[in-house]
Amino acid sequence: MATIFTKIINKEIPADIVYENENFLAFNDISPQAPIHVLIIPKKEIPTVNDMQEEDLEILGGLFLVAKHLAKKLKIDNEGFRLVMNCNDYGGQSVNHIHLHLIGGRKMNWPPG
Ligand code: AMP
Repeated sequence: MATIFTKIINKEIPADIVYENENFLAFNDISPQAPIHVLIIPKKEIPTVNDMQEEDLEILGGLFLVAKHLAKKLKIDNEGFRLVMNCNDYGGQSVNHIHLHLIGGRKMNWPPG
């Protein structure tokens, strides 16, 4: 089912887009948890990690390459950052369109809450 992220992909609602190509879109999180908090999403609608298929391997790998590219562009590659993908209720997923959180600009805590 289409989510708010589909509307962002289709430019039906605005977002602070930091990267876009044929298969991916990245935009600043509306509720940032750190100085840098970017969401990287595939344009293909995959609701959760549970829905990932073999045929999605290239897209899933591509998410990480976009994250690497953006971390360098945002100059947080050397100091480090965190990549997070939540799944369903207990994982804290609130939008059912897979997305990689790229979070940085401060030291992260572990374990997460
Ligand atoms: P998750 O809780 O892992 O599903 O992450 C969803 C993220 O989407 C949250 O961090 C929200 O702050 C963010 N979010 C929800 N709506 C928007 C929006 N319209 N623009 C940017 N980020 C959003």
